[in-house]
Amino acid sequence: MKKEPIQIAYLYEDLMNTYGDSGDVKILRYFLEKEGYQVNVVNVSLEDTFDADDFDFLFFGGGQDFEQTVVAKDLLRHKATIQAYIEAGHPMLAICGGYQFLGTYYKTSSGVTIEGLDILPLHTIFKPDKRMIGDTEFETAFGTAKAFENHSGQTFFDDPKLKPLGKVIQGYGNHPEAGVEGLHYKNTIGSYAHGPILKNQNIAKAIMALIIQRHEARLTAPTTALS
Ligand code: GLN
Repeated sequence: MKKEPIQIAYLYEDLMNTYGDSGDVKILRYFLEKEGYQVNVVNVSLEDTFDADDFDFLFFGGGQDFEQTVVAKDLLRHKATIQAYIEAGHPMLAICGGYQFLGTYYKTSSGVTIEGLDILPLHTIFKPDKRMIGDTEFETAFGTAKAFENHSGQTFFDDPKLKPLGKVIQGYGNHPEAGVEGLHYKNTIGSYAHGPILKNQNIAKAIMALIIQRHEARLTAPTTALS
C-alpha cells in the first residue's frame, strides 16, 4: 500500500446521487486500490469548507431539481477553487445535474432559473414535453460507452469551440437535436450518462490514469517554504 491516500472530493454526495452515480466513485476506488493506492472520499456538503487544491479528483453526481435548487444556494462560494482546479487540467467528472452546474444556468421544471458555476459556456433548460430517458451509446476519445440517461434538462453549448464527450449512437445526449453527448474540457468530463458511466472500463481506466498523475504531481509539488 502506498502511504498517502488519493483524495477524492464527492461534491454534495448526500444530495446529488441519482441513479446510483456513487457507483462511479466506487469503481474508481476499486481500480485504484488494485493498483496499491489508499483512497479517501470526502463528502463536501452544505456549509463545508472546501479547497479543490487538496484533492486528486472531483466528482459531482446527478440530482433532482429540488436538490439542485438546494445545492445551488451553497455551491457558488466554491466557484473560484473549482474553476482554478479545472483550468489547471486536474480531473473531474460531473454527471447530469452536476454537469448542468458547470454551466451558466439551469432553468428548472418550475421555471425558476438557478445560477450555475459559470465555468463553462453552456446552459440548460428543462423541457417538460420531452423526458430523455433510456439506454444510450456514444463514441468518445476513449472508445465506445454504453449507459443510461434520464433527464428533462436540455443542455446547449454557447461557444462552438466547446467539445462534447462523445457522438451519440443511441439515445439523446445533450438534447434531442444535438447528436452529441456531454462535455470534454481539459480533463473535466461532463455527461448525462448514468449506469454508472464508469462501468465502461475504458473511461474508468482513462480517468484513473489522470487521478494517479495528479496525485503524484500534488505530492511532489514544492510546498511554500516556512521562514
Ligand atoms: N434534474 C435534472 C434534469 O432533469 C437532472 C437530472 C439528473 O441529474 N438525473 O435534467
